[in-house]
Amino acid sequence: MLIVFIGPPGSGKGTQSVRLAKRLGIPQLSTGEVLREVKTGTSPLAQQIASAIDRGELVSDELIMELVAVRLEQSEYRNGCIFDGVPRTVSQAIALDELLETKQTGLDHVISLVVPESELVSRLMGRASVQHRDDDVPEAISQRLSIFNDRTAKLLEYYQSRSVVRFVDGVGSTDVVFDRILTGIRSNSPTRR
Ligand code: AMP
Repeated sequence: MLIVFIGPPGSGKGTQSVRLAKRLGIPQLSTGEVLREVKTGTSPLAQQIASAIDRGELVSDELIMELVAVRLEQSEYRNGCIFDGVPRTVSQAIALDELLETKQTGLDHVISLVVPESELVSRLMGRASVQHRDDDVPEAISQRLSIFNDRTAKLLEYYQSRSVVRFVDGVGSTDVVFDRILTGIRSNSPTRR
């Protein structure tokens, strides 16, 4: 099972994708998490990644797709995975489709978590005091939201043109939102064509 989770920062996509991965018995691939680990290093690449993340900018498509391709070669991914935070741009989506095609497979579901912007900002500011993420500061938050609204919204258009997006209301308790996600997945046959 291959599922893409799309959602603005603060939408709960991390929490929900971990939960869904556990329920389905497949790994979650969060590019943000992998990058946060890499950025703690001292190499020029680590510094480049740290600078992009801390400013709320996107890391290059090439780097992201390399990271994904390496993961998908690993045996624990043989039954699929939940993509959390990737793809984020149309070119990443095209590259992912091409990569999956070489493996004679394709996406089963694309889930878009929908949360109003005012709620996102208050959730992110709340998270900042608990998790201490370097990019949960007002400037980076507004940059990340604006990138989401601009580039990631085009990604949704790309997937919608292939009629594969399940829009899920992301406002409510974690349990309620999770149930909506499960209903969305169960009530629709897989999107793969
Ligand atoms: P996330 O944990 O998904 O919110 O990602 C945190 C940060 O990692 C983002 O703001 C970007 O700087 C970077 N990042 C994560 N995934 C991607 C991606 N697919 N493409 C480009 N940058 C990414």
